[in-house]
Amino acid sequence: MKFTFEKDDIPFIDKNLYIEFSKELRSIRKMIRKEYGPIDKTYSTVINFNSSNSIVTEAKEKIKLVKMSLPIYVMNAKTIDEIYQRNLNLSHECIHTITPSSDASKTTYLEEGLAVMFSEKYTNSDSMPPDKYNKARGYVLELLKHDETIIKKLRKKYIHLKLSDYTCEMIKEIIPTVDNVLLQNLTTRFY
Ligand SMILES: [Zn+2]
Repeated sequence: MKFTFEKDDIPFIDKNLYIEFSKELRSIRKMIRKEYGPIDKTYSTVINFNSSNSIVTEAKEKIKLVKMSLPIYVMNAKTIDEIYQRNLNLSHECIHTITPSSDASKTTYLEEGLAVMFSEKYTNSDSMPPDKYNKARGYVLELLKHDETIIKKLRKKYIHLKLSDYTCEMIKEIIPTVDNVLLQNLTTRFY
């Protein structure tokens, strides 16, 4: 994966931590491709670190750029707890880079829940996410019980659509037995 750091951050990045970070990112992306199919390769990724704890992934579709803003502790992770937190945050954000979108307001419970679920799968943990995220995770786990390859199938069938574009009908076409309440919940906008 090609990614760069924001210029201001470069002097503060330790070489060994950079190597660690890149390795982790590669392994996350590998698992994503295996579980959910290809990640949009036309985008370049810029990573920026901030001293607050904000974690955001935004895309500029016009210029094919994904900007991932992460707390500085993600880069400086050294202890087991810090490394766990880094892997959890990174793997969550990487889900939002599968099909980048400029419009975060369109993000559905399906995409957000998938991000939570995947980050826990990757780190083999229960992250005890806040209420809303917990709900989103629950909906996705419920969906995957019907067919754990559903995301890959949807992506293959609707190659030009984004994770948050899938409708109740599209999901139902692949899994006719999913109940309508769950479908409604999954396709509701998260923000
Ligand atoms: Zn998210």
